[in-house]
Amino acid sequence: SFTKTNRNINQTSFIDATKTPIIDLYIHSKNKDKQCVQCQKCPIFEICGGGFIPHRYHSGNGFDNPSIYCSDLIKLFSYIQNTLLNQLDIKEKEKMEYLD
Ligand code: SF4
Repeated sequence: SFTKTNRNINQTSFIDATKTPIIDLYIHSKNKDKQCVQCQKCPIFEICGGGFIPHRYHSGNGFDNPSIYCSDLIKLFSYIQNTLLNQLDIKEKEKMEYLD
């Protein structure tokens, strides 16, 4: 909907452009308060951030959704996490548990 804001580069400053709801949402799309409830409660939110914002859109409720690729994102991040953990030696893993 960027193109439906009736703003253009000749008449709108960048700062004013960021004040439109759709651009404000885009810029702050990784903020937790701009996420759906499912993402706000997600244990991997800090890594995923709700995914790519266009993948959250639904005509019924806008961007108030998890990514359409949510289950794939969980699989991907879990795979990466497990791969990294398997490469750490036991002392490094113990340090990580201590930091939790
Ligand atoms: S899109 Fe899915 S994996 Fe990503 S933060 Fe939201 S609920 Fe979690």
